[in-house]
Amino acid sequence: MSNAAHAELAAEHEALIQFLYLAPVGLVQTGIDGEIVMINPISAQLMMPLSRDGNLTNLFTALEDVAPELRRLCAVFDRPNGMICDGLHIQLNSGAPGKRMRVPNVLSLSLLKLDDARLMAVLQDVSEQVRRERQLRQSDAWLNALLTSISDYALVGLDREGRVSCWNETIGRVTGFPAAVVGQPYSVFYPDDSTTPERLQDRLREADANGWSLDEGPRLRFDGSQFWGSAMISPLPDRDLDLGEDDGDTAYCLVLRDISDKRDAIDKRRKSVFCDDLTGVANRRAFFEAAELELTRNRRTPRPTALILFDADHFKQINDRHGHPAGDCVLRQLGMALSATFRQVDVVARVGGEEFAVLLPSSTRDGAAIVAERLRQLIAGQPVMWEGVPIAYTVSAGIAAIDEGESVDLDTLIKRADQALYAAKANGRNRIECWNGGRDAGE
Ligand code: GH3
Ligand code: MG
Ligand code: MG
Repeated sequence: MSNAAHAELAAEHEALIQFLYLAPVGLVQTGIDGEIVMINPISAQLMMPLSRDGNLTNLFTALEDVAPELRRLCAVFDRPNGMICDGLHIQLNSGAPGKRMRVPNVLSLSLLKLDDARLMAVLQDVSEQVRRERQLRQSDAWLNALLTSISDYALVGLDREGRVSCWNETIGRVTGFPAAVVGQPYSVFYPDDSTTPERLQDRLREADANGWSLDEGPRLRFDGSQFWGSAMISPLPDRDLDLGEDDGDTAYCLVLRDISDKRDAIDKRRKSVFCDDLTGVANRRAFFEAAELELTRNRRTPRPTALILFDADHFKQINDRHGHPAGDCVLRQLGMALSATFRQVDVVARVGGEEFAVLLPSSTRDGAAIVAERLRQLIAGQPVMWEGVPIAYTVSAGIAAIDEGESVDLDTLIKRADQALYAAKANGRNRIECWNGGRDAGE
């Protein structure tokens, strides 16, 4: 061999050694009996904790405790060269207790027979990878458990655009939608007019930004019936969630839940806090909350708002003559008459013993006076029957209103309506009076 050829070989060898040293995996070259000829720093690092005496001279000996089969695998390998084992997972003891150093607990080993005399081992710390795989398997198990055991959740995969990307049993169970729902926007689960395409996209973007997006409202079943549901959308991490056979390009998970029961409970609680026990109309607290809210809206978007205060006339006499339960019956009847007479948006509330208030959004004083007069006539012409005895009674009302663009606070509005009511009483009862700018009361 010429000098040049020698030099070339030496340079090649040097380059190989360089590569072995810098390779991002552990490389160990050994004789056929496992005696180590070359070991790179990563291998030394990975194997050192395994060596009993700190000496790394033989690969089989070093791995004796954790991979005793290696020597035999090698002995029975009868081809002149090739892969003896490929990615064999070696479970290590996770280091001595109390040891602070992060020790790998799973190594992957590939052993290559180069020729009759040489073996090459490739070692990698795959602890993290194994841990992740285990985690994924675990969450798959969780998900499977969810998919098969829950009854009131539907788990829906959505693609980037919010189209259903795969169908599974929970969708069928909760919503009745068949597999044909795949490819349709998730608005299929919403009743018409309860959302818009823009709103649906907004929610996906919100989920992207915050990690989740939640809304509650009416939802639709395949048969057209509705239920009260919550919808939680969350973007999936970098992998597709295995929701079914073909999960296409699932980018979001939508969890639809039937919460009709919860809503009933919330309604019940609301009722107990905001309803008057005797008459079922709103109570004083609900009235003030609603009125404050309405006046706030009013300041933002000017519009007329009216307030009517009703008070039963000579009510004390009714109690005295027919008894307190009869008086209660009259109050209940008055509450019903008020609810039936005014609109849904009007707030009808019992604000005192035999006093009721009605707030009429987007209503002028004259408009309110017309309805109040209708109620007055209704009451005056229709006695309440109590234990076979007709009880005739009347009501008086005072009305005050905020004109469009006018700025009046709630206290003032109530005070004015009260002055008008006082005038109705003073002028003979069973009548309606509107606040007249304070001329009577000297405001
Ligand atoms: P006016 O025409 O001036 O309003 O006379 P009135 O008798 O209606 O007014 P007053 O304020 O003197 O009496 C109100 C009565 O309403 C007295 C009270 O016992 C009665 N009352 C208040 N709350 C209830 C209730 O919940 N049930 C019954 N049955 N009576 C009630
Ligand atoms: Mg009164
Ligand atoms: Mg009264």
